[in-house]
Amino acid sequence: VKVTLIAGGVGGAKMAEGLYHLENVELSIIGNIADDDAFHGLWVSPDIDTLTYTLADVIDRQQGWGVADESHRALETLSKLGDDTWMSLGDRDFGLHIYRTHRRRQGDRPTLIAQDIAKSFELTCDLILPTDDVVQTRVKTDAGWLSFQEYFVKERCAPEVRELHYDHIEEAHATEEALKALAEADLIVVAPSNPLVSILPILKVPGILEAVKAAKAPKIGVSPIINGGVVKGPADRMLASLGFESTAFGVAQIYAEFLDCFVIDHADEQHISAINGLGLSTSQDAILMKTREEKVRLAAELLAISGVVD
Ligand code: GDP
Ligand code: CA
Repeated sequence: VKVTLIAGGVGGAKMAEGLYHLENVELSIIGNIADDDAFHGLWVSPDIDTLTYTLADVIDRQQGWGVADESHRALETLSKLGDDTWMSLGDRDFGLHIYRTHRRRQGDRPTLIAQDIAKSFELTCDLILPTDDVVQTRVKTDAGWLSFQEYFVKERCAPEVRELHYDHIEEAHATEEALKALAEADLIVVAPSNPLVSILPILKVPGILEAVKAAKAPKIGVSPIINGGVVKGPADRMLASLGFESTAFGVAQIYAEFLDCFVIDHADEQHISAINGLGLSTSQDAILMKTREEKVRLAAELLAISGVVD
């Protein structure tokens, strides 16, 4: 079964890990690049790296991002030299950023670089970028516009979000790889990722949402919001401050125009009729994923619910 997953970082990687370890699944992942930024002259792509590290099983399981067993000596040197070092980058991690940056400077396509990195980490799935162009989320707060990582890491998501802007998204071009993965999928899955800063910056690359809608595959999503709250991160506060309900229903509203089915937690029974009212079917499940077993079980459920396997 060909499954194409649309995913952000930590929540996306949990769903990816579940699908990755299902035997009958041929997995393609379209990851988010709108969190990318330059640090110390290197191009860092946090969500793509979280997917790579998770599936390669070298991820720091405690944090959910970064490489396990890391040291931070390079960052210590940079700090000593006077660079701002609020973005935590480990020594092993730096190696990847150096490689990516070098290849980009040589003019290689970012999608090919991401695929080559995935191959070197021995991943057996396809890891795809939605676009080879630079698209960056900017966050308007009471203190003005911040880059996404300034908001997320430096300010620890403390400021209220007044507005989001995906810089240069209108002129970005979807990659052939992403369009093909959507067109050829037997099932399209939207991971339980932040809808506003992980999923929308993928879908809003011109051509991607259209390709999702045009795809013959059933489209199923998993709610990142359980019982009105997040597992981790600012998605609930971000939804509320931007005028959405910070519930599974609020997320379903954002996805209603293209999803067929939304999987919500057992704790969110009260939202079923409202979500159905948006024209979406619902399925209730245990959608908090801690162990690999829980991820694989939910992934298998998605295939069963969608009717692509019996
Ligand atoms: P980021 O890019 O690292 O911020 O991660 P994502 O955007 O992929 O995912 C963040 C979202 O994942 C948050 O809204 C969390 O609530 C959600 N999330 C994290 N773990 C789980 C989980 O086990 N189950 C569900 N349903 N959502 C989760
Ligand atoms: Ca992210």
